[in-house]
Amino acid sequence: MPGLVHTYPDKVLLLAALNCAVYCRYCTRGRLVGSKGWTIPDETFQYLGKHTEIRDVLVSGGDPLLLSDTELDELFSKVRKIPQIRTIRLGSKLPSVQPSRITPELADILAKHRVWLQLHVIHPDELTEEMTRALDTLAGAGVPMVSQTVLLKGINDSADTLTDLFYGLLERRVKPYYLFQCDPITGSSAFRTPVEKGLQLIRELQARVSGLALPHYCIDAPGGGGKITLLPNSQFRREGSEIVLTNYEGKEYRYPDNETVS
Ligand code: SF4
Repeated sequence: MPGLVHTYPDKVLLLAALNCAVYCRYCTRGRLVGSKGWTIPDETFQYLGKHTEIRDVLVSGGDPLLLSDTELDELFSKVRKIPQIRTIRLGSKLPSVQPSRITPELADILAKHRVWLQLHVIHPDELTEEMTRALDTLAGAGVPMVSQTVLLKGINDSADTLTDLFYGLLERRVKPYYLFQCDPITGSSAFRTPVEKGLQLIRELQARVSGLALPHYCIDAPGGGGKITLLPNSQFRREGSEIVLTNYEGKEYRYPDNETVS
């Protein structure tokens, strides 16, 4: 369907806007973004209505917060009319790069339609006073927020930088949700870290930040495989009837397992 990506059974990506306030070198949608504006056709909403397995709609683009308040209100109203859809999320970088877009009126529209905001934030330097005020407006209106970060060599690939970023987000009532491996797209090679670096950072973060501040470290599998979460090491193994667990310090603990799976 035009403007729709349906990879997982229960969730879809709705491409609501094709332009952005900034264009990121590591963007995986470079082939799409930067085009002229467009409107999602009715047939796409009809598809959503017919597919009763769809529960979660991520409104994305481009950056959908570049749409006007009226356009967003109409878009969310159309999605909210579809009874099986339980969750609407909206992905945006605007609270960081154009915080003046976050007005009390916009926050009220997001809250009215119970939209989760998924912020794209890379570095703690983005957490400026202006962005903090924007996030206060959103949180004050009751908009739930999570974040996504791309791991970038020389930019944020240190435990200190990521600790600052994730605690800074939590302080501003944003739950760090995803840390993405930078994809191998044209022009991104200077930013790409080895996967082992990401795993090492997650190991370090596990030892120093609250679980609330720890995102999932994911690779978006090529060829439409979807997001796959990577864990730093096998944190358990079975020995007889026991599970041997490894904690953040590398120490092992034995846990008596329930013997049968019902
Ligand atoms: S804001 Fe998002 S969609 Fe736009 S260029 Fe950056 S990564 Fe791509």
